[in-house]
Amino acid sequence: MPSVLERIKKIQSDISQQQTDFAISPKIIAVSKTFPLEHIKPLVDLGHIHFGENKVQEAEHKWTTIKKENKNLKIHMLGKLQTNKVKKAISIFDFIHSVDNKKLAEILKKYEHELNKKLSYFIQVNFADEKQKSGLPASDVFSFYEYCKNDLKLNVIGLMCFPPFGVDPTNFFKEAYQLNQKIGLKELSMGMSNDYLQAIKLGSTYVRVGSAIFGERKSNE
Ligand SMILES: *Cc1c(COP(=O)(O)O)cnc(C)c1O
Repeated sequence: MPSVLERIKKIQSDISQQQTDFAISPKIIAVSKTFPLEHIKPLVDLGHIHFGENKVQEAEHKWTTIKKENKNLKIHMLGKLQTNKVKKAISIFDFIHSVDNKKLAEILKKYEHELNKKLSYFIQVNFADEKQKSGLPASDVFSFYEYCKNDLKLNVIGLMCFPPFGVDPTNFFKEAYQLNQKIGLKELSMGMSNDYLQAIKLGSTYVRVGSAIFGERKSNE
């Protein structure tokens, strides 16, 4: 079985060979949720910068110490964020990809102020209107963005999408790119292990790749 290092090198080279119309070279967020630090450490030692988690407590446990020793690391929160965990989240994470409601945005603002720290945010969009999934309907995104930017002064850098499982994501990726452009945002968080090359072709700037780097997860989150 290839190692974590062999896998990420292959993904990096596939991405760099993918022809796109975009000048930006997309960043790989190595999604390390559920994996213990000893699986992740080789990537940190290699100098990989972006890592993704989906639970505040797990991220705190895994990354607090290692972040102090590796100041360049950037940790991304990808999962649903409960408002009672925001304070901790602000102190651990550098990016949050799951901003999708006013109450959450307001509490983020409050703790940015209290902890004197600014994060970068993605607004999560639910293009397929899947009831069980987080994210704003596309029609609400622009006014929510204006609120976050103008009223709360949050540093919103792009949209994030998580298309439905088992369907071709092409149209969702295209829709996300167009909406992102329309709003005037530069970054776009889309594409996972199965579709990161497709996402990059359609304008993604941050791909979130877990199992293709670390192997299958035991739990299905
Ligand atoms: C787990 C997760 C990923 C990574 O999924 P893989 O299919 O393992 O690459 C990406 N984005 C989000 C929001 C996730 O929760």
